[in-house]
Formats: sequence, structure tokens, C-alpha cells
Amino acid sequence: MNRLRTQLLATAAAFLAMTAANPVMAQAAAAAVITPTGQTQPTAQAEANAAAFVLNPEDAASGHIVGTASLAGLEVYRLDGTRVGVIEAGEVVGVDVRHDITLAGRPATVLGALDERNGLRFFDFDGRTGKAVEITAKPMPIEFAAESMCLYRDARDANLYAFVVGSDGEVEQWTVFADATGKLDARPARRLHVASEASYCVADDATGDLYIAEQGVGIWRFAAGVESIVEPQLIDAARLGHIAGETGGLALQDGGPGARYLIASNASANSFNVYDRGKDHQFAGTFSLAGVEAAGGLATGAAGPQGLLIAMDDENEGGQNYKLAAWPAIAQALGLAPGTPQDPRGPIAPPVPVVRPVVETTPVPHGGDAADDPAIWVDPVDPARSLIIGTDKQAGLYAYDLDGKVVQFLPDGKMNNVDLRDGFKLGGRIVSLVAASNRTDDTIALYAVDPATRKLVPVSDGPQATGLTDPYGLCMYRSRRSGKTYVFINDTDGRMRQWELMAKPNGKVAAKAVRDFKFDTQAEGCVADDETGALYVAEEDIALWKMGAEPRTGAARTVIATVADNPALKDDLEGVGLYDLGGGRGYLVLSSQGDDTYAVFAREGSNRYIGSFAVVGDGARGIDGSSETDGLEVTSRPLGPRFPTGAFIAQDGRNVAPAEAQNFKLVPWDAVAAALKLEAR
Ligand code: CA
Ligand code: CA
Ligand code: CA
Ligand code: CA
Ligand code: CA
Repeated sequence: MNRLRTQLLATAAAFLAMTAANPVMAQAAAAAVITPTGQTQPTAQAEANAAAFVLNPEDAASGHIVGTASLAGLEVYRLDGTRVGVIEAGEVVGVDVRHDITLAGRPATVLGALDERNGLRFFDFDGRTGKAVEITAKPMPIEFAAESMCLYRDARDANLYAFVVGSDGEVEQWTVFADATGKLDARPARRLHVASEASYCVADDATGDLYIAEQGVGIWRFAAGVESIVEPQLIDAARLGHIAGETGGLALQDGGPGARYLIASNASANSFNVYDRGKDHQFAGTFSLAGVEAAGGLATGAAGPQGLLIAMDDENEGGQNYKLAAWPAIAQALGLAPGTPQDPRGPIAPPVPVVRPVVETTPVPHGGDAADDPAIWVDPVDPARSLIIGTDKQAGLYAYDLDGKVVQFLPDGKMNNVDLRDGFKLGGRIVSLVAASNRTDDTIALYAVDPATRKLVPVSDGPQATGLTDPYGLCMYRSRRSGKTYVFINDTDGRMRQWELMAKPNGKVAAKAVRDFKFDTQAEGCVADDETGALYVAEEDIALWKMGAEPRTGAARTVIATVADNPALKDDLEGVGLYDLGGGRGYLVLSSQGDDTYAVFAREGSNRYIGSFAVVGDGARGIDGSSETDGLEVTSRPLGPRFPTGAFIAQDGRNVAPAEAQNFKLVPWDAVAAALKLEAR
């Protein structure tokens, strides 16, 4: 909350500086006056607020206007303004539309509506006839005084979202998903805020921009993606900019490249402001519609070659209604390129293939950056009883079962990274050895997994000091050549050290330093390939490196991929994992933290880059995707029926739906393999 407030203040300060440097900007320009081309009949209750334009799927030149009519529900008008139908939608104040939403396997035009009494409602709209069927799966009440709503279809995850804005500045994002019967359900995913009443919103599916009108303050832009960082930008402000007082409805005019605009009702001046979205939302002019009191909702339509603007008229004789204006006339009056209205229909194509998690772990108890790195213990007897071991870098180590429930918590220090190797001979037994980098006392924390109780048991032969200033990333290596087990830990200063882990006669484990080497800048994520003897290290801002994992292989290293040369990599480069197909073949998976994707490289040969994927939310399961990932882990060993060919596990930097502390997401390898056409073991 404090961070958000700081951002708001910083944005406001930047805006003030900008307007002060350009006094012309603060002056109101004379508004061009445009004559409306038509109007709808007054609503039955003489009350109107928001409207949407719905294309006829069979004729892109025609369609219907759907407007809110308060207690009268949603009214449907032809383009000539004739009311042709009413959709019972309660006391409705907000409406928006998305075309080509898949419902029970078929494409549908979906209306979202905000019913003041009952919350969110959804309708399957027949764009040819103008008739609609309600497809609301269950009541979805809003827990605050809601003002309006808008829809958003995210190009990255192909999910549908609804934003509901409220009188105390609430901006609630809901994930909308179809159930098996083709009805639409939704759950709250995250909350954004503005300081005072949020009255209208509009979102752009292609760019991921969400615009919020804040009464008496101005217009904000947020990133609409549910996993995106909250960094609101002030587009225009009352008093300081081109807004006379109140801000009203918002609409987007998409005329293609060079002709993308934001239109905002400048309600106190009965005019409309236009901003050029291709020029960083530069103010592009003001117009008014003759005889229209511009108080409320706005919508645009891509009807035919022209494009139209629909504006609610607060003071229409005979009752509030919706006025229509031709976009080319507005563009001409303001000297803007009108462009060609873009067809809003068509499927969404995510920029990288997506997979969805099937399990998420219980959030760590600490807020902020806390969860960091996972490891996997595979139960050799019953793989479905395997454990995810995850670090809470503010507190200790957690062990989770494959449902994500906490099995054990070890409050042993600020554990940053964790890894595990089977086959360690200790006190006459063969154990799975766990190592973690402990930043509280700068030691190597060591545990053995007790397979009977599924608990981690400390086995360190006293504190195993690292001698590092700030132990950071960690990975383990079990040499096929010597059978010895090693651990690597790097320091935030770029140093990296290797220890041999040795069983003591007392049944404990001690670490003996065997090699030091260094990277130029901070490295963290690493993974060793036990079969080939390779060590892979991610130098965060620079590259993924390959070198020898055996202690006598020196400091020679080769570069696998760099941030500078591979556009699929955005720093920081973080966790690295290995998928073993056997015979030295398989895949390396690397967290490209800067763009919330995971890059896949071949394990064999020269480690060629194969492709990238993203982990996105599953609305029906109620599990969000993973973003800003630090540590990750991959296994090709089966983990029971849900993970028959292994799993991909990622730390999630932004755990939403609902907003909670960080956690780990579990994805079946089958899903990753299908998304990128990879092999599975
Ligand atoms: Ca982090
Ligand atoms: Ca790990
Ligand atoms: Ca890092
Ligand atoms: Ca997430
Ligand atoms: Ca979640």
C-alpha cells in the first residue's frame, strides 16, 4: 500500500513538472463541435449509463448497441436507434462485450453486466438477432459499492477477465471462466486501487492497458495482466491538465497502427478529450457532440468501414439515451488520422505457448519476496508421496506434499536456495541429502530425508561455514565418476565455491571446500548434470554458462545463451533445472524473470535454444500462473498419477487469485512437453 502511494505521488509529481514546463497544455482548447449522426430511443426508465457495441458475426458492417437502462435492464437497439429488445439484467449500470469467447466448445459473443443488486452477470448474445441468454453460473456479488465494469481478454494467457470499479476507488479484477455446461463463472483475482471514486474503466486486449476514470482526479493507466506489476500512470488530471472537473466514461478507438486513441468524457465541460495512444497518450484534442450532455458512459464500435462513438446523453429530451457519432468526423475535426476500425473478433494467440498449474503450495507466511527455490524428493516406494522442499528466504525450509500442503517447517534461518541428491551413504544407510544456503549464519544447512516420516532430519556435523560474505544460489552434484557428492554455493559478489560433502563416523555430514571460481557479476541459479559432469550457472544480467562440475575442471566456461543475443531471455536469469530423458539427452529449463517466461535448451550437444513457455492461470481450478520466478526445479521421475512424466515447479513472485504471499506452482511435465512439442520420459 505504501509502495502504491509512493508511486501515485511520483506520477503526480512528474505530471506536475510536465504541465508546468508546458503552460499551453493547461489551457482549455476550444472544442470542435460534432453533430451526432443518430440516437437511440430514450430508455424505458429514462436512465442510462454505459453502452457497448456488439458486432453481427455474419456482417461486420452491422451490429447492435446494448445500453444500460438501470431497473429496466439492458436495452438492445439497432444502429438506427430503434429499441429491438430488452435483456433482464436487474439494476444494471455497467456493460461490456467480447466476441469469440469459447463456451462449451463453440465461439460466443459474451456480454458482461454489472447489476447493482446482484453483482456480475454474463449473457450469451446472438449478434444476428439481438437476443441474449443469461449464462451466469452462480451469483457473483460485489462486496463494495460498485460503479461500473469492463471486460478484458488477455492476449498472454487467453483468459477472460472482468474489472469492477467502486465508489471508494476499488478496482477488482475477476478471472472469468466457462464451466462444463458453457456457463460463465468468475472469481476475484486481485485488487488495484485509486484514491477516490473509480467511475469507469476500459481495457485493451492487444496492449494489456487498463484505463480507470477517477472522479475529480483524472485518468489512470494500469497494466491489466493479472500477474503484472502495479505501476499506475496518470494520463491526464483535473485542474492540471485538460480535464475540467469530473471524468466520465472511457472508450478506445482502434484504427490500427498510427490511429489508436483513448476517448474520455470530460463531463464537467460537456466535452470529450482524445489522447493518442501511439504517442504515449499525448493529448490530441477536445470535441463536443451538439446537444449532448456528456456525463456518463462511452463506447466505440467498429461498424463497417467507419467506426462510431456511442455516448450516453444525460439531458436528452424525453429521457436519457445514447447518441451516435461518426468517428471519421471527429478525427477530421481534430486533425487526426482516422485509421481503419479493427475487427474485434477472432481468436487470441498467446505470444509464447502456455501451460497451467494443477497445484499450488500453501503460501509462505512472510509477505514480500520470501519464497525462493524448490527441490523435489521422490519417494522411491510411492511417488505420489513425494515432497516439494521450498525455501522461505526470510525464515527457513518448508516441505510440502503434492497437494501443496505443508508437511514440515524448519525455522532454521534465511534459507535462500535448496537442492537434493539421492544415494548418499551415511551411518550405514543410503539417504537423500538436502543442502540449503543459510544466509542467517552464512552456513550450508544439511538434512537427510527420513522416508518413513517424510521429515527432514538435520545431519550437519556442527555449523558448516561457507566463508562467503553473502551465500546465495546453491546446487548439488553427485559425480558419476567418483560417486562423491558436492555442493556449489555462490555469493552475491560473483564468487562461487564448491565443497565435497563427506559422511562422518558419527553419522553426520561435513563440507570440505575443493574449488573456488568467480563470475564477473551476480550469479544465483545453477544446476549440475550428474551424468555428463556439466555445471550450468545463470549470471543474472548476462548469460547462462556451462562449465565442468568436477572439482579439477578449473574455471573454463562456455556461454550457452546471453541476454544480449537471445530476445527470449530478459534479465534476471534465475533458476535452472534439468529434465533427464536418459542417455545424456534431455532439456535445461531457465527462468527468464524479466518477461515471466521459461526458456528451454537441449541438454545434449551445444545446448541449442528450443523455445519458451509461460505458466498462466487456470480460472476453473482457481490457481494463478507464475511470474517473476526466482528458483525452479524439474524432474523426469514420475510423481504419481497427476505427474506421470515428472513435473516443472516454479516459485511464483506474485501469488494472486486471491492476493496472498508467494508460493510454488506445480505443472505436469506432460503439459510443458505438449506446449513445446518436447519429449517426455
Ligand atoms: Ca524474488
Ligand atoms: Ca533448487
Ligand atoms: Ca536472483
Ligand atoms: Ca502468480
Ligand atoms: Ca494463487
